[in-house]
Amino acid sequence: MTTDLDFDRDHLWHPYTSTSKPLPTFAVASARGVRLTLEDGRELVDGMSSWWAAVHGYNHPVLNQAAKEQIDRMAHVMFGGLTHEPAVALGKKLVSLTPEPLQKVFLADSGSVSVEVAIKMALQFWLSQGRTGKDKLLALRHGYHGDTFGAMAACDPVNGMHSLFSGVLAQHYFAPAPQSPFEGPLHAEDVDAVRALLEQHADDIAAVILEPVVQGAGGMRIYSPEYLTAVRELCDEFSVLLIFDEIATGFGRTGKLFAMEHAGVCPDILCLGKAITGGYMTLAATLCTDRVAAGICDGEAGVLMHGPTFMGNPLACAVANASIQLLLDCGWQARVAAIEQQLKDEALPLKQFDSVADTRVLGAIGVMEMKEPVAMEEVQKRFVEQGVWIRPFGKLVYIMPPFVIEPADLSKLTTAMKDLAERS
Ligand SMILES: *Cc1c(COP(=O)(O)O)cnc(C)c1O
Repeated sequence: MTTDLDFDRDHLWHPYTSTSKPLPTFAVASARGVRLTLEDGRELVDGMSSWWAAVHGYNHPVLNQAAKEQIDRMAHVMFGGLTHEPAVALGKKLVSLTPEPLQKVFLADSGSVSVEVAIKMALQFWLSQGRTGKDKLLALRHGYHGDTFGAMAACDPVNGMHSLFSGVLAQHYFAPAPQSPFEGPLHAEDVDAVRALLEQHADDIAAVILEPVVQGAGGMRIYSPEYLTAVRELCDEFSVLLIFDEIATGFGRTGKLFAMEHAGVCPDILCLGKAITGGYMTLAATLCTDRVAAGICDGEAGVLMHGPTFMGNPLACAVANASIQLLLDCGWQARVAAIEQQLKDEALPLKQFDSVADTRVLGAIGVMEMKEPVAMEEVQKRFVEQGVWIRPFGKLVYIMPPFVIEPADLSKLTTAMKDLAERS
């Protein structure tokens, strides 16, 4: 008899997996709050928020209600020539919550697509002014911006496995990942490296793209907000646009509503995604300034050349509106601050173990970087046996739990991390 898990193994791709040597997967029957219930009845405390997204936990009555109400009106309608209240309401929220210069909103269907749109905006902006050579990006080592070809070309060239696609991928410039710690003075070398690249190549560069304060999937690195201030000044000096990718960091995760607020810096283009719908469905947004929008639209093309079929999906917009309102009303700052304090108390000290290279905490993000890559199959299985859902990646064992997590459940996660540190 083939079970569902057998079929899954034989036919379904999972993220970054092999179909010839598949790792075990675990079937989830339902989820509520911070708990995932497996088909076999086991309950796991969720440490991942389904990759940064489920900030309110699962099966939230307010978000369920928003989805149900919207689906009885309309699940979807094309955005070409039509508009609707959920999109307008979301646009109002995003414009009012982000820095004042960001006035134009493109609703995209996933984080990667919002990055594609950001890149296209930057390229079209310069093309419109007749600056034909400005078609490259300056990105950071250890950056991650998505899996589509445009976004992938801006990811770390080594751990993004660029060499596999060299020849097909756009070739961009890369600055070293900033070394300046979150608290503490800005290292001059970090800024000098960006300046040197801009001095040499600004005529080719349309935009700098980076993840503010926390580099996510490319290394879970946390760096000084002052770096953002310095890069903003360099972009202005060298006539290069600045793109912030807040797809992972947005909506409270780092202790500010958006990570750029740690520095008080505004980009020309901003990408949002992941937690925008509280993890209910896929939606993302690319915001830009009036200057960027006018630059694009005054050019030869006259329009921004992008428009996905499911752009502005009403169901996703309705849930996003409910999720953002819930976030603003739920006292998220106190919740994230409490998680941060507990992670500082329980996760930071794991650095004492010989197997651990470093530990880092910011907001509701806790990272334990091991000296050696984690033995995924064995470690994943043990985490599940211990009743936690933590998904390591290479040497990185990290958690970013839903903001609604209670202290005892958070301790389950850090205890499992400690157990791994002790055994390794
Ligand atoms: C996840 C992520 C993306 C890609 O988003 P998808 O929705 O997976 O396409 C882009 N940038 C950052 C910083 C991310 O964390």
